[in-house]
Amino acid sequence: MIMTPRQRATQSPMNRHHHFDVLVIGGGAAGLSLALRLPADLKIAIISKKALTEGSTYYAQGGIAAVLDENDSIESHVEDTIVAGAGLCDEEMIRHIAERGPENIQWLRGEGVDFTRQHPPADGLHLTREGGHSKRRVVHAADATGREVEVHLEEDARRRDNIQLLEQHNAIDLILTNEDEGCERRCVGAYILNTHSSHVETILANVTVVATGGASKVYLYTSNPDVSTGDGIAMAWRAGCRAANMEFIQFHPTCLYHPQAKSFLITERFVVKAVAAAAGWKPFYASL
Ligand SMILES: Cc1cc2nc3c(=O)[nH]c(=O)nc-3n(C[C@H](O)[C@H](O)[C@H](O)COP(=O)(O)OP(=O)(O)OC[C@H]3O[C@@H](n4cnc5c(N)ncnc54)[C@H](O)[C@@H]3O)c2cc1C
Repeated sequence: MIMTPRQRATQSPMNRHHHFDVLVIGGGAAGLSLALRLPADLKIAIISKKALTEGSTYYAQGGIAAVLDENDSIESHVEDTIVAGAGLCDEEMIRHIAERGPENIQWLRGEGVDFTRQHPPADGLHLTREGGHSKRRVVHAADATGREVEVHLEEDARRRDNIQLLEQHNAIDLILTNEDEGCERRCVGAYILNTHSSHVETILANVTVVATGGASKVYLYTSNPDVSTGDGIAMAWRAGCRAANMEFIQFHPTCLYHPQAKSFLITERFVVKAVAAAAGWKPFYASL
């Protein structure tokens, strides 16, 4: 008989139960920054499929857009985003995010994230200008911004007594209460496959957060890491959450393709220099 994950979890003699106030499924920038901002008296579990450094956050390169220059404005950031989004974006949401950009960059700096500074070193951060932006507003840590963010958030999470990091833990499905008369179904945790022990464990929690990143790995060629398979989105959807905008997938134009190698993002700086070299502007390797 083929058992469902729920049956396997409840029937297995090896099943272990844990209880937390908050279960965060996903240990990228989203999951970690949420957990680090919750009250310290909450007992929190953060689970990730593989090592925490195996999510998209660690691989992000270019930087994070935020209004930090005195010649820039929230209004301009909102306008640029609406234009870049071809009018499909939700203006209220864009404004919400743009307004909170500067304080979130400060929060990340408070976590120890060392963004590249202006030359000569001053307090001001070095800002680059990327496609779609009319101003220089992309704060970055050299060309490995995501790594700098992930590593510092992870370090802080490991220092906290109230946060338990469970790597190699793969969420299979959310656990819902039965639909009793008059009561809505509630999510009370998740069934988790511990890939170290191969046991399915039950994590019960008052609140469960799905912060499992994207779904680009459903495509054969992508610059995204293996964990980005969208199964978290699928389990949230099965539990009754709304899933929206699934048609928007980012494909980096500078992804390495080789039949025997894993695809990855070739740094845009490298590509710019390669194009410049091809155009005969500068000796190629000399300037890398
Ligand atoms: C190569 C690359 C370059 C990028 N460059 C930039 C950039 O310059 N600027 C920018 O703003 N953005 C960039 N991005 C996008 C950015 O990295 C992501 O939008 C962001 O990091 C997403 O964070 P997240 O926490 O939502 O997801 P992730 O960092 O992907 O974290 C998802 C977490 O969920 C876990 N997970 C998933 N499914 C399960 C499951 N079933 N059970 C348990 N755990 C699960 C994973 O293990 C992982 O820990 C880039 C992305 C890539 C791949």
